[in-house]
Amino acid sequence: MKGFIADCMLGRLAKWLRFMGYDVLYFREIEDRELVKIARAESRVILTRDGGIPERFRVEHYLIKAEDIESQLREVLKRFPPSAKLKSRCTECNTPIQEIQDREEVKDRVPEYVFLHHRRFWHCPQCGRLYWSGTHYRNMEERLSRICS
Ligand SMILES: [Zn+2]
Repeated sequence: MKGFIADCMLGRLAKWLRFMGYDVLYFREIEDRELVKIARAESRVILTRDGGIPERFRVEHYLIKAEDIESQLREVLKRFPPSAKLKSRCTECNTPIQEIQDREEVKDRVPEYVFLHHRRFWHCPQCGRLYWSGTHYRNMEERLSRICS
C-alpha cells in the first residue's frame, strides 16, 4: 500500500493522518469514478464513509464507521498501524516537508515572537507553508497521545 485517498467527507481525518506522516490524498470535490481511478493507479486504499463506493466498484477500501474525529483516527490506527514519522508531511497538501537550514530565511515570514522562540523550522516545497513546533502542533500531539493511549 502506497497510502490512502480519502473521500470528500473525510477532510479533517486526512489532515490528522498527514500530521502523523501518512500519505493521504484528499480532494474537496471529486467524482467517485475519478477517486477510484486514482486509488487503482497509485495502489491507494480508499478511506470512505459512504458504502456507495465499495458497492459499485471493486477497489481496496476501508469503510470508516465512527462519526467523531477521535474515534475515526483510532479506527484507522488500529487497522493500519503507523510507520511514518510524526510531522513529516504537509497537512495542507500531503507533500513531505523539509527542514530549513538557515532560520534567517523565515525571519520575515513568521511573527516575531515565533521567530524568537523557535530554533527549527520546516517548509513545504509544494505549497510553501511553514511549520514549527508551536502551540497548535503541541496541542495536536497531546490530543494524539490521548487518542493512542
Ligand atoms: Zn504543502
